[in-house]
Amino acid sequence: MRRFGALLLVACLSLGACGRPDVPASSGPSKGDARLQIVATTTVLADLVQRVAGDAVSVASLVPKGGEVHTFDPAPSDLTRVAAATLIVGNGLGLDEWLTDLAARAGARAQILHLGEDLAGVEYLAGEESGHAEESGHAGESSDSGHGSDDDHATNPHLWLDVAIARRYVARLAEALGAADPAGAAGYAARAAAYDARLSTLDTSIRTRFEALPEANRQIVSFHDAFPYFAAAYGLEIVGVVVAAPGQDPSAGEVAALIEAIRVSGARAILAEVQFNDRLARQIAEETGATVVADLYTDSLGDPPLDSYEAILEWDAARILEALGG
Ligand SMILES: [Zn+2]
Repeated sequence: MRRFGALLLVACLSLGACGRPDVPASSGPSKGDARLQIVATTTVLADLVQRVAGDAVSVASLVPKGGEVHTFDPAPSDLTRVAAATLIVGNGLGLDEWLTDLAARAGARAQILHLGEDLAGVEYLAGEESGHAEESGHAGESSDSGHGSDDDHATNPHLWLDVAIARRYVARLAEALGAADPAGAAGYAARAAAYDARLSTLDTSIRTRFEALPEANRQIVSFHDAFPYFAAAYGLEIVGVVVAAPGQDPSAGEVAALIEAIRVSGARAILAEVQFNDRLARQIAEETGATVVADLYTDSLGDPPLDSYEAILEWDAARILEALGG
């Protein structure tokens, strides 16, 4: 299946008519493209959109493959893409905060759909700026389990790394696409249902494999704070994070505290990601004997065959299980 997908991608690249989100062939919609134009902030979200929307819809990611969404600086060409969009898809919760300003500057007519916000029944977890809560013990923690509406940074935005929550994203997308394009609603619903069934199988498969891990092997450290929903879903315990937020290097004291936490907990793995330099993670690993898994995909897709949401979740799960001795 994957090989077939890669062949298709090569074929469509060589024809120069590729609608894939991670291959922005031009800075704006091509002339005469009558298809619905949708922009998403990341390649991961663009993939979810494309699965539901099908090939009759043009989907583009604003942050390129391997780019960094938290600190993204939109280019002038992004204004054109956002202005032309029928639907603008973001995650929300501070991940892609620049989107609101970008849409306003572009004079966008389309609504912004935030896939991660206000999902009923989802337990939202503490965010990057309120991370290290146990160590700092500051008074800012509220007992409110919903996300703070006055400060979105209080909630961690990486919900899609729990496949069960990604399924909620897909349901929301099917609804929004059907509203934006009523003539296509039945098609969107059918594709969403088929995709949801695959995601359900993936979720069960990952869960089953992590359930087999011994309790003593479940502690992890992550580079940036991308894994709390993954950990909650699949039974891991996050001992600490290397950087409080992307672009913020930890102080010597914070590094020392993290090394101590790894020693005390016996955490075996430091989860790093391809879009970040792993120098600091490797330094900490050397001090503690933990293993660095440096090639994980969280906020961005990778090159084929790791160019789909399903592929990166399967890849991440297998790599983490391997590092934890599963
Ligand atoms: Zn992130």
